[in-house]
Amino acid sequence: MPFLLLLFLVSFGSIDQKGVGTFAARASPDLYKKVIMKQLQGKTALITGASRGIGYAIARKFAAAGANVVFTHLSNDEQGQALAEELRVMGSKVGVYRSDAANFAAVAFLVQEVVREFGRLDVLVNNAGITRDGLLLRMDEQAWDEVLRVNLKSCFNTVKAATRTFLQQRSGVIINIASVVGIKGNAGQANYAASKAGIIGFTKSVALELGARNIRSNAIAPGFIDTIMTKDLTAAAAQDWAKAIPLRRVGLPEDVANCALFLASDASSYITGQVIQVDGGMLT
Ligand code: NAP
Repeated sequence: MPFLLLLFLVSFGSIDQKGVGTFAARASPDLYKKVIMKQLQGKTALITGASRGIGYAIARKFAAAGANVVFTHLSNDEQGQALAEELRVMGSKVGVYRSDAANFAAVAFLVQEVVREFGRLDVLVNNAGITRDGLLLRMDEQAWDEVLRVNLKSCFNTVKAATRTFLQQRSGVIINIASVVGIKGNAGQANYAASKAGIIGFTKSVALELGARNIRSNAIAPGFIDTIMTKDLTAAAAQDWAKAIPLRRVGLPEDVANCALFLASDASSYITGQVIQVDGGMLT
């Protein structure tokens, strides 16, 4: 009986809005949790660069929330296939592509394939990113170009390719992974900081252009997150960073994934053009 009641309330979208959610939760807490936790049920999400780190955590989080997940990687085929298997076990319909986010034609093909295979595209996460650090005096043209192409041009590529589908569906969610470095700058990362600042400007412009079509565009600015990208820091340096963070710890990929889930879901349906810092208060 509680099961039928829950299904009825959820399918008519009345839970929470009419205050019956509390009643349903009391009637059958476990079931309520299971049904309500599926915030992305029926949605298809595309995540770039998810073979490890933050993208990997977002892919798992979205699959757990009921989404069909398509993700890309560039070199790490074994890890990509392992993640695909994990997501399938979680009940997600999965697409895995080896695709260079910086390549305009490859991304256009990718998005076309996703829409053909999955019938729709609801959420786009621009996560693929690289660093080529060095002080400006020593930074060569290649280090500048590579970082700008992979980090910034990739966002243009995917959004350009997905916009037509979003317009036809009259909905779409774009989440771009920026960085606190794009807000504050960082010595030794002029290329990376410029790419992330560019992402923020791009995110806001897209929000202004496409908001009237029910397409939302937001950025997440992670602080210091424990992934391979930050592995080169010594333990002592990592501790120093952590000391400068009000929450006194480095972030986990899961912390960023939680924010991405919020931005992907209808819980954030009135939020667009924003940059949410997931940094333990680092820039405060
Ligand atoms: P990561 O562990 O180095 O993972 C990067 C992912 O991007 C990998 O799956 C990699 O795939 C993929 N990738 C790289 N170049 C690609 C390309 N051209 N096309 C498609 N995929 C590509 O990095 P992360 O720490 O998880 O960072 C993820 C995002 O968060 C990046 O945009 C990064 O700038 C941002 N961020 C990270 C931090 C941090 O502290 N970690 C802080 C702020 C922002 P392959 O392994 O297959 O090459």
